[in-house]
Amino acid sequence: MATTDPTTILFYDERVLAHEPDTDAAFLPGRLEKHLRQILSGLGVPWKYPEHPGRLTAIMQLLAQQPIPGVTVESGMPATREQLARVHTMSYLDAINALRGTNAWLDVDTTAVSPGSVDAAEVAAGTAVAAVEAVVSGRSRSAFAAVRPPGHHAEPVRARGFCLFNNVAVAAAHAQAALGCERVMIIDWDAHHGNGTQDIFWADPDVLFVDIHRAAPFYPGSGRLEEIGAGLGEGTTVNIPMPAGAGDVAYLKAFRDIIVPAADWFRPDLVLVSAGFDPHWYDLALNVSYEGFGAMTGILQDVAARHCDGRLVFVLEGGYNLDSLSNGVHAVLSVLAGAEPPEPGVCGVREVEEAAAFHRNAFQSPEP
Ligand SMILES: [Zn+2]
Repeated sequence: MATTDPTTILFYDERVLAHEPDTDAAFLPGRLEKHLRQILSGLGVPWKYPEHPGRLTAIMQLLAQQPIPGVTVESGMPATREQLARVHTMSYLDAINALRGTNAWLDVDTTAVSPGSVDAAEVAAGTAVAAVEAVVSGRSRSAFAAVRPPGHHAEPVRARGFCLFNNVAVAAAHAQAALGCERVMIIDWDAHHGNGTQDIFWADPDVLFVDIHRAAPFYPGSGRLEEIGAGLGEGTTVNIPMPAGAGDVAYLKAFRDIIVPAADWFRPDLVLVSAGFDPHWYDLALNVSYEGFGAMTGILQDVAARHCDGRLVFVLEGGYNLDSLSNGVHAVLSVLAGAEPPEPGVCGVREVEEAAAFHRNAFQSPEP
């Protein structure tokens, strides 16, 4: 009997839900806490940690309501110390390990841990590794690791911006060190610049890191055009800073005019995506639609098909509005599972055309 050959595997491991930062934990340093709380209360925003377990349950709920044929779900595994140590220092890993079982703030950039966080972060990184293994082994053409805490702000020696371990970097380093991939391309389309991933591969000519993000001073403030890597890695870091409100048309132009030619020059053995869904307009920084995420996925599918047998792995980063996060992931998975990539229009134009057709007869001037 023929075995099923899934088009795409969604990796989801409930152990990542154990990362539940205590929203009332003391925020260091005290001066900043007071200032931040003041700003938030002035805006009428309740103080809470936005990177919470409900993000992943929202994704899984939508998929249960609207299943996508061709997507199978598998659980992940914790990353080993050896896997994590390819991108983080031993002393950083020791420091994080010491926090197992505690509540703590790690950084002024609001990276908190709860008693289950270190285990969850190990599973997040290991699940990204599992996704890469599934695709490189040929078990699946593509994969999506729905993990948290996210990873792309985590630097070799520092947790930042909700991130503990740099999941996509751990996955890329594993593909190189253990799976025979020589050249790995990482596209980071999260709204925020992936400073950690950039830092880790800054001087590495075998990882092409391309990051499209909202420009500084938007968090974390890095990702200028001139940041192109250094040493042997000069030219394999590519930043595409975008103005506030940029949407589908600008994003797809960047993909076609910059990301595709960069990929064709680099000829990757594996394509990874740091997929944040905060470029959607519900997160108020940029203006990408679900169709836009689907179209970007289609372009990357073509890139992967041209260079590496279609090997394409998504790793979840940010996205804090639960509607746009879950629908964005759904749009990506639909394309990975074989749906025709959508062609997004300019928002509102179709509605205006329909309205114009509706009103046409009302305003006809009498024949002269
Ligand atoms: Zn983000």
